[in-house]
Amino acid sequence: NTVKRAEYPPLIPVHMEDLESAIGYALRHEVVLKREVNGQPRQALIKFLQMLLVYFPGEDLVLKGLQEVEKYVNEHISFTGDEFKQFLDPLDGMDGRGLIPKSKNYITCKGSSDKFRGFPCGLWTLFHVLSMEAFRQNDQARFKEVPQGIFGFIKNFFSCRYCARHFVEMATDTWEEFKDLAEMVLWLWRNHNKVNKRLARDASEDPQHPKVQFPAPQHCPNCYDKSNSEWILEQVLEFLQNRYDTSAIIRQKQA
Ligand code: FAD
Repeated sequence: NTVKRAEYPPLIPVHMEDLESAIGYALRHEVVLKREVNGQPRQALIKFLQMLLVYFPGEDLVLKGLQEVEKYVNEHISFTGDEFKQFLDPLDGMDGRGLIPKSKNYITCKGSSDKFRGFPCGLWTLFHVLSMEAFRQNDQARFKEVPQGIFGFIKNFFSCRYCARHFVEMATDTWEEFKDLAEMVLWLWRNHNKVNKRLARDASEDPQHPKVQFPAPQHCPNCYDKSNSEWILEQVLEFLQNRYDTSAIIRQKQA
């Protein structure tokens, strides 16, 4: 391989287009792939949608679309992927019923070629944004809502099945590791870093965006204490807040 592995990729701010593209693909592709949705996967989908409705800091039209989807899933105790696709198709924002984006525009998550990054990166980014929004809303009684919404979606719908198996194995029984919203944000960060560690130098790694323990020293020199090889968690949390808080999201669409 002649492509040089970049040392530390420049950090591009989070763009709303990436988050919308990831939600659109999650519903229009990942859920649609299912032959039948009922029982426990249906419950997981309802939780995923409810999590988005409470914590996704998106445009009204997209939230309206998500409301329509939640209503559909609540009203149908069993449906096929094809039926779900037919239901989603007209949700294009044109008739006021709401929008489930069809776009696949990744800016924050643009890979050095089409086979890299995109949807899985958009999904991680969405998860971090949702966890940060839960932290901002500060309803401590609801500190498990985001991890459970993520877990159920990955377990039942993420079409990279070996990714899902690994994640479920890693995350099951870790619910005791967090007792409040700040710890929940860090739980997600820590588990993402475990995945980064496992995948570093894997064939799936974009050489221009190597999997590093995040944030790299260039991005946050104060996040890591070299003298005892430990993260400084208050600094990490602050860094994540600066990156994933609603106020940091770029909403302007690229032409
Ligand atoms: P990603 O890992 O997708 O991260 C996106 C962006 O988030 C990064 O560019 C960085 O800016 C930021 N970031 C990185 N680490 C952190 C962190 N710890 N906290 C906060 N922000 C961070 N692929 C496989 O090949 N095998 C697997 O087993 C596998 N399991 C997966 C499990 C899950 C739940 C998900 C969502 C994806 C999984 N993937 C797996 C895909 C893989 O993790 C990457 O998403 C994909 O390779 C694209 O990588 P990326 O370089 O865009 O960075």
